[in-house]
Amino acid sequence: MTAISLGIPTVPTRLAERRKSRQIQVGSVAVGGDAPVSVQSMTTTRTSDIGATLQQIAELTASGCQIVRVACPTQDDADALATIARKSSIPVIADIHFQPKYVFAAIDAGCAAVRVNPGNIKQFDDKVKEIAKAAGDAGTPIRIGVNAGSLDARLLKKYGKATPEALVESALWEASLFEEHGFRDIKISVKHNDPVVMVEAYRQLAAQSDYPLHLGVTEAGPAFQGTIKSAVAFGALLSQGIGDTIRVSLSAPPVEEIKVGIQILESLNLRQRRLEIVSCPSCGRAQVDVYKLAEEVTAGLDGMTVPLRVAVMGCVVNGPGEAREADLGVASGNGKGQIFVKGEVIKTVPESKIVETLIEEALKIAEQMEKDGVASGEPTVAIGA
Ligand code: SF4
Repeated sequence: MTAISLGIPTVPTRLAERRKSRQIQVGSVAVGGDAPVSVQSMTTTRTSDIGATLQQIAELTASGCQIVRVACPTQDDADALATIARKSSIPVIADIHFQPKYVFAAIDAGCAAVRVNPGNIKQFDDKVKEIAKAAGDAGTPIRIGVNAGSLDARLLKKYGKATPEALVESALWEASLFEEHGFRDIKISVKHNDPVVMVEAYRQLAAQSDYPLHLGVTEAGPAFQGTIKSAVAFGALLSQGIGDTIRVSLSAPPVEEIKVGIQILESLNLRQRRLEIVSCPSCGRAQVDVYKLAEEVTAGLDGMTVPLRVAVMGCVVNGPGEAREADLGVASGNGKGQIFVKGEVIKTVPESKIVETLIEEALKIAEQMEKDGVASGEPTVAIGA
């Protein structure tokens, strides 16, 4: 029987079905298939400094990072991998450039995966058989990480520059070499610093293979620019169902990358939203200092782990509407704030009491949510119109 449409449009929760990719296991984290899109970052410490690296991994883990990558440019770094992989509470991926010997060291060290750059590992193609054997025996997946800045010389000559086609051909060529040896425990990235080229490369790659994809805009820049570039590029791809794990690259502390990555996933409903502050941008009608109010409420609710939506609105134009839609809200005006809980006005308080009242009510709602077993997570804040 065909369902009859009553003509009432529904509110979409997702923009697209996920692309069907094969699933691999990076330590305890599944990547691809129906596994949730994971967020990863990379340490900035010398990997050979085990204490500092583990400290940074702990900070990343606390911020929500699910997989961490560490650089391995020297033998001292390779020697540190076993301890780091063992002591880290999230899977550790060794990032290998230039020296194939470190690929074997990383596999022996028990890293959860190894990232190789086919464009700059010496005689990489000749080593694939050995790498496939070692990785296959250890059950270690490989990320084929193609990067525009270090594209294979042969492809650079063929295409003249790092075009989407060149990036994809490089990745699929390397994957085919592994496949010849029966190894398919692979994920792929084709990074470029230009979101347009990057998006097109991943679209082509997604159409041509079923490997799970690690998304990244490489060298995206300082925090503001890198955040925008990554949000635009990841948004374009994730909204089409493309992407299985993401790394935001910022010239900023890695914890910032995780915050941005998580916010991108939450914005697309690919991850449950947590604390969300819906605050207006303010305008000439505002009757309170919206920025101050939003900041004070955000600070007061820092650490909240339930998906609470709090509306902070400057006047009565959109205020009551947004405040009603949220779990909790305030619509301000005439030196007072109408406080809404679950759509009902529960009280009207003087402006000086708005923040403390909102925090007090938020804590009550959060307590109830926790009792009801509503999923929890680290807090984030979305400031919007
Ligand atoms: S709710 Fe809208 S109209 Fe009212 S102050 Fe905020 S931005 Fe201006």
